Amino acid sequence: MPFSSLGISSALLPALLRALAEKGYLAPTAIQAAAIPAILQGRDLVASAQTGSGKTAAFSLPLLQQLANAPAGTPRRVRGLILVPTRELAAQVGESIVSLGKYLPHRIKVAVVFGGVSINPQMMNLRGGADIVVATPGRLLDLVEHNALSLAAVSTLVLDEADRLLDMGFGEELGRILKLLPPKRQNLFFSATFPPAIEALAQSLLRDPLRIEV
Ligand code: AMP
Repeated sequence: MPFSSLGISSALLPALLRALAEKGYLAPTAIQAAAIPAILQGRDLVASAQTGSGKTAAFSLPLLQQLANAPAGTPRRVRGLILVPTRELAAQVGESIVSLGKYLPHRIKVAVVFGGVSINPQMMNLRGGADIVVATPGRLLDLVEHNALSLAAVSTLVLDEADRLLDMGFGEELGRILKLLPPKRQNLFFSATFPPAIEALAQSLLRDPLRIEV
């Protein structure tokens, strides 16, 4: 099944299909076929997905489409927030979003922020605002405390590798970040495993989620 036949209500923009074709992604993976239509409909999602399943494009494509469809003249504010456990994953997800979004008529700005490196270049990079931020939790909070970015307009939250986020001790930071987000938002939750702490987090975060297992 090609990407172009995901269904009328979840048709991807030509600019996204062009980027997919260029990358050689001919057909959606199982998680993409299930997640893309649901995300475009605005649903919350909890997906058990391993690396290699195609989960990055599963949340990136509908997120890009939703942001691309925002009315012209909308000021640049962080609308998509993707939390990841490591700097390597942050860089990888950021690159993937940029390459999928490169043919959209209005450039979507993606900022990637993570700890362990100087904060100043990241603050400079955020000066003109960003549409999507991919972040590790601690550095994101540092940047908010420096007034380098605001989370008040976030409309989609993605937790990528949620189990690793908790395993690496980011639970407390995560709680603080959640308090800074608008209550009305879409939540997309991806995890390889679902121990009790992850189930509890999903329960507290998600509103009538679609469950996907691949
Ligand atoms: P991920 O699970 O998001 O880390 O993606 C795993 C790998 O699959 C990455 O190298 C992607 O570039 C690739 N990939 C993602 N979606 C597709 C697709 N629909 N067709 C072919 N390759 C894909």
